[in-house]
Amino acid sequence: MERQSLAFINPSTGQQFGEVTMTTPDEVKLAVEEMRRAFPAWSGKSVKERAGILKKIQKILIDQRDEISSVVSQNTGKSRQDSLIELFISIDMLAQNSAKAAKWLKKERVSSGLYLFKRCYVEHRPYGVAAVISPWNYPLLISLTPVFSALLAGNTVVLKTSEVTPAVGVMIETLFQSVPELAPFVRVIHGDGKVGAALVNSNPDYIFVTGSTGTGKRIAEAAAKNLIPVTAELGGKDPLIILEDADAQAAARWSTWGAYFNAGQACMSVERVYVVESKYDEFVRWAVKDAEKLQSGFTLDTDSPYFMGPITDPRQIQIIDEHIKDATDKGARILCGGKEQGPYYKPMVIVDVDHSMKLMREETFGPIMPIMKVRDEEEAIRLANDSAFGLAASVWSRDQKRAKRAADRINASSIIINDSIAQFGIPMLPLGGIKDSGIGSTHGREGLLKFTRPHSYAVGGPPVKWDVATVLRELGNYKLAVAIMGVVYGTTLKQKWETLSQLFRKRKKTDTASEIKAEVAVTK
Ligand code: NAD
Repeated sequence: MERQSLAFINPSTGQQFGEVTMTTPDEVKLAVEEMRRAFPAWSGKSVKERAGILKKIQKILIDQRDEISSVVSQNTGKSRQDSLIELFISIDMLAQNSAKAAKWLKKERVSSGLYLFKRCYVEHRPYGVAAVISPWNYPLLISLTPVFSALLAGNTVVLKTSEVTPAVGVMIETLFQSVPELAPFVRVIHGDGKVGAALVNSNPDYIFVTGSTGTGKRIAEAAAKNLIPVTAELGGKDPLIILEDADAQAAARWSTWGAYFNAGQACMSVERVYVVESKYDEFVRWAVKDAEKLQSGFTLDTDSPYFMGPITDPRQIQIIDEHIKDATDKGARILCGGKEQGPYYKPMVIVDVDHSMKLMREETFGPIMPIMKVRDEEEAIRLANDSAFGLAASVWSRDQKRAKRAADRINASSIIINDSIAQFGIPMLPLGGIKDSGIGSTHGREGLLKFTRPHSYAVGGPPVKWDVATVLRELGNYKLAVAIMGVVYGTTLKQKWETLSQLFRKRKKTDTASEIKAEVAVTK
């Protein structure tokens, strides 16, 4: 049978610049088995050793920055600087996690409870083979970051990169293969959703997927058949709220950045803006002014005049156009921007939108900022929460405490005050969606520990006679156990005394009679 291949396409020109053969389901299985065999050797290394080996890849990433940003730009259409941002954050995440990993992964001593003569510990052990499935919008960052966390935690990894950006997948494979101490512990496989499904069905020990909500649900369903734990970082429809005391000019500057960065192809893009009446006109004026300044186009020069590249995945164009049509059919007005030639758009500001429109309910993943006028903070929060998604949210106000109080009422797992998207790039802040935006988390301590399971143990000599737990385990100590329970946990002095005094009370005849009856009942 002829093997299928994936073409490397530059979305700005449609030109092919290479190809890779897709991994077959049998090869996927072999990769998982190989990583399972390699697991003891990698997990047996200390965290310090693993971090040391990963430092070698950190060096290579910096040495090869220009080649890397060039491949990412060719395959996604984003500017070289935007590609460098992916690389920069990947390195920052690796460096900061490596510095903290030994502390986070250290075994913890916990209380031994009633077992006074035992010592109890919790270790954070790696799962085994971690499957990492990544999307095309940040094909470098969202592949490398979870792979680094998985490796630091002691897992071996099978990574499946997106079929839309296969050149980046091949480049990542080459990078890992170039560090001999790391090469035996990571496999990169290439292919579409079917190859991803083959990976999920090859029984990895843990799955970390970043992608659309539909894909996340399909993977979670397939993984459930084998009880494989899943972390799923999925889509969003993030709201941004402008309160009456916000700096409208700064808000417009940075919400347009958040709406059009990577041509809106970011999970945490600003996809809905709610502005209170008194600030509405001023904010819209600034937003249009800012949006009109941004140019779209593509060049491989490191100095690019283009803030926005093309839409990377041609299938996305249909969704964007459908959202625009649905909104304008229902009365929305486009104040600036629109479709250009081929896969290009000029940044769009759309007003007179409401929640009957797909543009305000479904993930658009394009360079559109829909703005809705609201009465007040209450209405803004109610509308922000009227969504199936719950990834991130932003609130703008000169009163930072007030903004935080408002943001706390939004159902999202991550918020930012007076900025947009930026928290994604802060390594110590965990990130993970709620509702249709996913389960689990990535980044920071929580993100690293997601790649581990708690392993617990208790050590000590044989049970000691006077250990409270031994008293409880030996027959004939009912009253003593009641007295200990009362004295230690009794909630009032009266209760403590009542349970203790019972220990010294003589047995009543009635007690004995009812005990005999119960004994007879049991014997019968
Ligand atoms: P996608 O769901 O189409 O694909 C994601 C990955 O899953 C790809 O590698 C794909 O081949 C694979 N896949 C598809 N079907 C599969 C299956 N049945 N089994 C296993 N693997 C399968 O997503 P995309 O279009 O590549 O990425 C865009 C989406 O990702 C958007 O919804 C965006 O919001 C989301 N995203 C989320 C985050 C986050 O942190 N929450 C970050 C980036 C992107």
